[in-house]
Formats: sequence, C-alpha cells, structure tokens
Amino acid sequence: MARWPMLRFPIEWSTIFEPDAGCLFVEACVRAQLQAADAAGAELRHGTVVREIFCRETTVEVVTDTERVVAGQLVACPGPWANALLPLPGVPLTVLRKSLFWYRPTDATAYAPTNMPCFGADTRGGFFYATPAFDIRGVKVAEHSGGLPLSGPGELNRAIDPAEQSAVEAWAAASIPGLGNERSGHTACFYTMTPDSHAVVGQHPNHPQVSIATGFSGHGFKFAPVIGEILADLSCEGSTSLPVDFLSPSRFSR
Ligand SMILES: Cc1cc2nc3c(=O)[nH]c(=O)nc-3n(C[C@H](O)[C@H](O)[C@H](O)COP(=O)(O)OP(=O)(O)OC[C@H]3O[C@@H](n4cnc5c(N)ncnc54)[C@H](O)[C@@H]3O)c2cc1C
Repeated sequence: MARWPMLRFPIEWSTIFEPDAGCLFVEACVRAQLQAADAAGAELRHGTVVREIFCRETTVEVVTDTERVVAGQLVACPGPWANALLPLPGVPLTVLRKSLFWYRPTDATAYAPTNMPCFGADTRGGFFYATPAFDIRGVKVAEHSGGLPLSGPGELNRAIDPAEQSAVEAWAAASIPGLGNERSGHTACFYTMTPDSHAVVGQHPNHPQVSIATGFSGHGFKFAPVIGEILADLSCEGSTSLPVDFLSPSRFSR
C-alpha cells in the first residue's frame, strides 16, 4: 500500500510482489506470431471454417466450405470448440463464460501502468484481478474464479450478468477504492476448463497423426510459444523432449 497508494488490502493478508511480472498485449503477440509463421513459409487462411475432421488410418482429412485437405499430420488448437470439432476420448472439457469489466478513473495518470501494477487477490468470495489503465477504457477488473458453465461456445450471451457485476464492483470498491464505478466497457469470453486446470497437449489417443492443444483453463496465453514448440516436435518428430506428461490427453482415463 506504501508502494501503490491506490491499493487497499486487509493488513493481516500475505502478499507477494513479483518484480518481473507483466502483462501481454495479446493482439500484438498474435500478430507477431502470424508474421513469424508467414516468414517461415506458412500459408495462412484467415476466415476459413473447418467443418469436419476425419482421422483415417495414417492420414487426416480436413473439410472446409471450399476444399478437402488430406495431410500426413494435423495440429489442432480449437479452444472451446474442441468438444464439437475434435472430441477427445476421456477428456472432459467444460466451457465457462467469463466476464470482464472496465472502469474509467477520474485521474487516469494515477492508474496508468507506470503507477499501478497488474494484481490479483485470492479472497473468500473468489479470485479477482485488475490491470492498470492501458487505454482509454481505464482499469480492467474481473473474477478469475466462478463463471457460467455453457454447453458450448455457441451458447454465449454477451449481456452483463448483474451478480457478476456486483461481485466485481464490491471487490474493486474494497481493493481500489479511489477507482469509482464509472463503467466504460464490458465483454464476455471463454475459459475451456479441464478437471485439474492443466491444459491438454499431446497426440490424439487413437490417432497419433493428430496433435492437439486445448483446455487451457484460463491461463494458456502466455504459454503459446512453448506449446507451439511442443506441437512442432510432436508432429515433425513424433515426440518431444519437453516434460509434457502432465498435459497428456490420456491422463484422465489412466
Ligand atoms: C478473461 C480471460 C482472461 C485470461 N487471462 C489470461 C492470463 O492472464 N494469462 C494467460 O496466460 N491466459 C489467460 N487467458 C486464457 C487464454 O486466453 C487462453 O488460454 C488461450 O487464448 C486459449 O488459446 P486456444 O488457442 O486454446 O483457444 P482460442 O484462443 O479460443 O483459439 C481457438 C481458435 O480456434 C478457432 N476455431 C475453432 N473452431 C474452428 C473451426 N471449426 N474452424 C476454424 N477455426 C476454428 C477459433 O476461431 C479460435 O481462433 C484468459 C482468458 C480469458 C477469457
């Protein structure tokens, strides 16, 4: 509280300060990775919907609206669409709706990234987090725990849930009391959860020519480069020297 005067926590709490922690600008990360793939010779097909995937004996066939591609290897990262597109036997994936809220402070400078850290708090009422005012929308506040289970991503309702909003605002009022509650933005997205909250990364249990990565349980973005390395190893070499057993698609049925 001495270092960041906008934060308030019960004095008896344990806290951790991680000087190397930070925040990723995800669109810039994705753009950079697409550029790197393009420069390495990948053919990018934006806006192409995969309708079906057929796993044959040694090959795999991918059907889009305009073509059928037969390949020796497939890497599939369908996120919350995994259950529908490429069901994995014995892998229970649950899709949760998650909500994000932005609040515009009266004094934007005080909440700028140079003055305020990204932080989270594991409270009795849930795990909440906030990021500083990176843009005009202001401070982002959300709950990492909780979330509404959906039967699939198609069921997403983007409207504000008043219960989620009041939980987030109650936490923000206690932890960032000067922020105020001028809401400047809201959105909803997905967590694809596994029972142990670890991702599912590996070869398909019945079709080793298909490598899959999904079920990132709300904390997968920062791992994208190493997950890419693992998937490249699996599809090009058939195995990886990285320790990925704990992510195996077969672990839930062992
Ligand atoms: C609110 C929120 C906060 C988060 N915070 C963090 C964080 O602090 N740190 C962190 O590391 N991670 C965080 N995450 C998690 C992170 O964003 C996810 O783990 C990650 O984006 C999952 O990547 P993915 O590639 O598995 O799925 P996605 O990013 O969902 O990508 C799946 C892709 O597959 C495409 N697709 C699906 N079906 C088809 C089809 N039939 N044809 C063609 N394309 C298809 C989709 O269009 C999509 O582009 C957060 C997530 C949310 C929602």
